[in-house]
Amino acid sequence: MCGIVGIYNVPEASKITALGIHGLQHRGQEGAGIISYDKEFHSQNAYGLVDHIFSKDKIIENLPGNMAIGHVRYSTSGGTGAATIFYNLDFGGFALAHNGDFTDAEYWREKLSKEGAIFQTNTDTEIIPHLLARTKGTSPVNRLLKVLNKVNGAFSIVALLDNKLVIARDSNGFRPLVIGRYKEGYVVASESCSLDLIGATDIKDVEPGEVIVFNEWSRTKEIYHLDKKVKKHFCIFEYIYFSRPDSVIDNQLVYDVRKRIGEELARETYIDSDMVVPVPDSGMVAALGYANQSKIPFELGLTRNHYIGRTFIEPTQQIRNLGVKLKHSAMRLFKDKVITIIDDSIVRGTTAKKIINLIRTAGAKEIHMRISSPSITGPCWYGIDTPNRKELIAGTSSVKEIKEFIGADSLKYLSVEGLHRAVKGNGFCNACFTGDYPVDKRVDK
Ligand code: 5GP
Ligand code: SF4
Ligand code: MG
Repeated sequence: MCGIVGIYNVPEASKITALGIHGLQHRGQEGAGIISYDKEFHSQNAYGLVDHIFSKDKIIENLPGNMAIGHVRYSTSGGTGAATIFYNLDFGGFALAHNGDFTDAEYWREKLSKEGAIFQTNTDTEIIPHLLARTKGTSPVNRLLKVLNKVNGAFSIVALLDNKLVIARDSNGFRPLVIGRYKEGYVVASESCSLDLIGATDIKDVEPGEVIVFNEWSRTKEIYHLDKKVKKHFCIFEYIYFSRPDSVIDNQLVYDVRKRIGEELARETYIDSDMVVPVPDSGMVAALGYANQSKIPFELGLTRNHYIGRTFIEPTQQIRNLGVKLKHSAMRLFKDKVITIIDDSIVRGTTAKKIINLIRTAGAKEIHMRISSPSITGPCWYGIDTPNRKELIAGTSSVKEIKEFIGADSLKYLSVEGLHRAVKGNGFCNACFTGDYPVDKRVDK
């Protein structure tokens, strides 16, 4: 998962971009980058948090211009590379930030490599500039449109194409992308919470299959549509976990949806207990919904330490074993109590196991785990770094086996039907729960 921002025709665009990607920090903490355009391109990518990289005035001063793109990167398994990428092509510069995964990336990488392309990173995003370099057309925009019609899978992108800002969303609309007005210009971001932070107005979703070109010189906005038929498959997991609760997607506030998910979970999996406790922060809103619906008292029984860095727990095994205590601590209110604990999802089962152990050690009599998503039985091919089926605990184990592994007295998940009832509307991807993948992964060579 990643977060992207594009700014057009706004003075000090890189400053606004830094604000925008800061508002998307939850979508990726590994690294961040900004590329601005001011007759020439200026770029800054680094590892770490936005606040760390872009808080210094000098860095922003080195990114002049009234157009910019920004990116926050999520650490992917083995994947490394810059947040934003830049290439000098025959027509001029091309800067790109991408959220999603191309399902035919491996195919294109191998084909392009055989033709002599040299890849600098192992991100799938890099296939775009290589294809663009090789695609002929009447204009750079026409060439980029041809490239976007060639590739498959999930992409929400922001790009600086010579002196234009181009934004696009694949025809399934897997990943979110919103656009708003700001001063004389436009601002684009993965989520509306980022545009709210900037102070944008008239915020709306970019439609699946839409490509919008903002022309620096003519001050015009052109809208194109990708050739592929629009068949909306928005990632339902954005409502469950990825998006920030204060974002609005498809006219639905994520917070409201997440609360309804919790209410539905209570209707489907109710068990009497002394208190409903969320795993912070991801289980928070669903637990509130669960508590409201079940009329069981809501307690913030776990405290999360937000200041824990990854490196800190890495050095020695002894410290690593302390892991959960460093991240979460239990209030002194579990003794002899029956607890319902809520989290948004189980991936490998490590969090649930640690949390249950923590609560058990604090003296709880019974622990019932409720999960506000169906069980994740398959990987995501569209931009979320879930592990492969073998590493997904629900990919290989039954609910009973998972319950035993995590040490709960009972374990229940929300049903797929319940999830859709709570989210409302249609046109969703739910492949990691159902195995029903809307776009095949192209592995043929
Ligand atoms: P596990 O510990 O079972 O491997 O992962 C589940 C926990 O990780 C949940 O608390 C969830 O909020 C959190 N999490 C962090 N990143 C992701 C992600 O990319 N996908 C999902 N589904 N959960 C994640
Ligand atoms: Fe979202 Fe799951 Fe579909 Fe991936 S497979 S896009 S995580 S619903
Ligand atoms: Mg979590």
